[in-house]
Amino acid sequence: MSATEIVYLISSVLFILGLKGLSHPESARRGMHLAEAGMVLAIVGTLVSGKIVTWEWIITGIIIGSAIGAAMAIFMPMTAMPQRVALSHAFGALAAVLVGVNEYVEKSNLNELTNGLMGALGFEVLFGALTITGSLMAFGKLSEMITGSPITYKGQNAVNILLFIAAMGMFVYLIFFPYNTIIFYSMIALSLLIGIFIVMPIGGADMPVVISLLNSYAGLAAAATGFAINNKVLIIAGALDGASGFILSIIMSKAMNRSFANVLFGAVGSAQVDSSKLAESRPITRFGIEDTKFVLEQAERVVIVPGYGMAVAQAQHTVRELSDELEKQGIKVEYAIHPVAGRMPGHMNVLLAEANVSYDQLLEMETINPTMDTVDVCIVIGANDVVNPAARTDKSSPIYGMPIIDVDKAKTVIVMKRSMAAGFAGIENPLFYQPNTKMLFGDAKKVMQELVSEFKKV
Ligand code: NDP
Repeated sequence: MSATEIVYLISSVLFILGLKGLSHPESARRGMHLAEAGMVLAIVGTLVSGKIVTWEWIITGIIIGSAIGAAMAIFMPMTAMPQRVALSHAFGALAAVLVGVNEYVEKSNLNELTNGLMGALGFEVLFGALTITGSLMAFGKLSEMITGSPITYKGQNAVNILLFIAAMGMFVYLIFFPYNTIIFYSMIALSLLIGIFIVMPIGGADMPVVISLLNSYAGLAAAATGFAINNKVLIIAGALDGASGFILSIIMSKAMNRSFANVLFGAVGSAQVDSSKLAESRPITRFGIEDTKFVLEQAERVVIVPGYGMAVAQAQHTVRELSDELEKQGIKVEYAIHPVAGRMPGHMNVLLAEANVSYDQLLEMETINPTMDTVDVCIVIGANDVVNPAARTDKSSPIYGMPIIDVDKAKTVIVMKRSMAAGFAGIENPLFYQPNTKMLFGDAKKVMQELVSEFKKV
């Protein structure tokens, strides 16, 4: 075994340990560092393996790539994480396609295009190209550069399937006749088009599922690159990426109670409601800071349910301060975490960990729900869809069947948000009109700060 192969083996082990670490919030940071170390080793191993011809290009690439990566990490906020991830996939897939094209040109000039190599290269550029444009479309939709609503037309699924069959036909043809350059480049062009077409009908709310699916495609393209250029660490890392992206897509679909097919072909989200029209005439109960403090002081058990609004307001630290104040008064405080609260899996866990909330206080939906009727006060901070009881009761609701946190069953529910506006799904929430629900309007951070000051007054 050569020194490079040993380095690759170590970095592969580090990737696997890194993924294992990411399975729990407590070990996630360590997992990330292990994966980073694995990546550094893989890069260094490749650089010193002697295959690099021009260092100028490598150094230029490292400088440009690091500059883009650092700018994205520094300037893009946590709430824009899904679109940031989408962009990264587009870059990853672009790299795979460029390597694939380069390998094709080189091997075809040397007359060394075997059927097996063409299979790997074809797979790499096919999935890579559709991941580039698919990810860019996802980025555009999530950052609202293009409409987040599904763009649909009659016969759309049939067109998409036909385009995919045509691309697959070209791919199979190339395996047998690899030197047909026109077909090779046509297949890339068609795949780029497919990426746009398949993401067009998918609504903004489903985009994170699509992004993790594209992540999986980018991983598969990278694994195919590994086969094409005979790089083992790329095969292993690509396979890990492909599998984890696929598993994540399934977990997210499940948490939204949707099937994969429904996410990909359902064009859900077209009936988005104008949220300004949702403030209907049914009465609601408004609460002020003092009322809220009074109710909280009477409680023995308080459950905090964070959502996207907490992330936008960056209220996690103030939320932690409030729970400290409550605990000082002997009140038991827990946090109920919905798997798709916020805009990416684990969004709430990351924010609460940043605010040093103890992991023991974080309860999953399945754990908290059976005990919800014993909760004195539930504070909903900037969450909406994940606490919408219509998911349980209203068969006509677009989110019917999605598991939710049953905050409506608590003795008192305090909902903290700025207005009566809808959440991501764009739908009405009957929770707000329940007799045990008190609406505390305002920016989550500002309201929390006022509440904490009120507690500190005494
Ligand atoms: P929602 O998007 O349902 O609701 C967030 C609420 O936060 C809004 O109603 C908004 O109301 C409020 N809000 C916004 N800014 C502030 C602020 N500064 N202060 C206080 N409140 C604020 O969020 P949820 O977390 O409940 O649900 C997540 C949604 O995203 C679900 O529909 C889920 O399916 C979807 N999704 C999530 C994924 C994930 O991985 N996490 C993946 C795919 C989809 P107002 O404007 O009145 O303040």
